[in-house]
Amino acid sequence: MKSVVTLKLKMRKNPALLQTMEVYSKAVAYIAEQGYTNKISNRYQLHHLCYYRAKQQFHLPSQFIINANRVASQTLRSVKKSKGRQPLFKAYLPLDFDKRTFTFSFDKVRLTTIEGRMDIPLDIPEYYWRYLDWSWQTAQVMMQHEQLFIHITFTRNIPSVANDGKTVGIDLGIRHLVVASDKRFFSSKQVKKKRIMFKRLKAKLQAKCTKSAKQLLRKISGREQRFIAWVNHNVSKEIISTAEPGDKIVLENLKGIRRKRLGKNINFWLHGWSFYQLQNFITYKATIKGIQVVKVNPCYTSQICSHCISLGSRTGNFFRCTQCGYSLNADLNASINLAKRGSMSDSVLVAVNQPYISGDDSKATRVSSYRTADELRDNVPSGTLSTLVLE
Ligand SMILES: [Zn+2]
Repeated sequence: MKSVVTLKLKMRKNPALLQTMEVYSKAVAYIAEQGYTNKISNRYQLHHLCYYRAKQQFHLPSQFIINANRVASQTLRSVKKSKGRQPLFKAYLPLDFDKRTFTFSFDKVRLTTIEGRMDIPLDIPEYYWRYLDWSWQTAQVMMQHEQLFIHITFTRNIPSVANDGKTVGIDLGIRHLVVASDKRFFSSKQVKKKRIMFKRLKAKLQAKCTKSAKQLLRKISGREQRFIAWVNHNVSKEIISTAEPGDKIVLENLKGIRRKRLGKNINFWLHGWSFYQLQNFITYKATIKGIQVVKVNPCYTSQICSHCISLGSRTGNFFRCTQCGYSLNADLNASINLAKRGSMSDSVLVAVNQPYISGDDSKATRVSSYRTADELRDNVPSGTLSTLVLE
């Protein structure tokens, strides 16, 4: 089952983009005029007649000329059907983008314009963060009441079925954001670097105390939150990617985690990074896929040997068992312990289908399942999603 969602987002007016829309609209009008006077409405004939001339005249990227030709042909056909007059067009027609002309990342889109590729920042409402890891497909930029909007379509495959399978423990930490017991390590290096950058930027702005500095500070905080959500989405996606329906994922119960691992830097790291959010993303993604998730008490998971359950010692990154001499990466040892503990317990079932996103997400109704289009449509706040199709 494939689900498709279209997000409608406000966009700042970018001069190059506006100019592209304007020229594109002129190109559509030109092609339509040519077709009308030559009595041609067929797309291929129209292309043959107009492509090179339009390309020379408007200097648009070829993809837009092809789009303009398509729109002109559609309009001419409906004019022909209704025996109408020569069609007129608005100054800013909706402009279509596909994978050749646009890319999306968590806080911006890169669009092909008449002046080359442009990065345009996007402010994505929290309610939409859950779609950030779906795969983006196409986009359409349009002008509505003097405001610029972008519609971006995202798709995702939703599988069904559930059975019994393997158990994977997920250890969250400092050196690695995540270590999975099936020997997958997710480094926190890049993320730390970026967070330090945000921290410095914020400190600088906090020292300034002006109104504009405060505004910028709020903006940057928002950016940082979205960055965290974006990383959490990608990490959780990666974790779930190798799990099959019927498998079990074991998470640590995070209560008391700050006491478990002391240190000022560590607290900054734990406090600022939303491990709860990461766990919730993992949980809702797993649940959709038919994977069970349990939470266990992480007590002693980093001190005992995953091989013989005796106490061991940790030096830096390494764990060494004092009893059997088994030695391995300390976080991996902890994650294996978590997996073992989780495979024995099924009492603490987590039955959340949706990620909990802090902030004003409470406004958004929780969607109980992704199964049917009607369910989704009924549960989505009105006016936020423009289209919603399930195939
Ligand atoms: Zn041992």
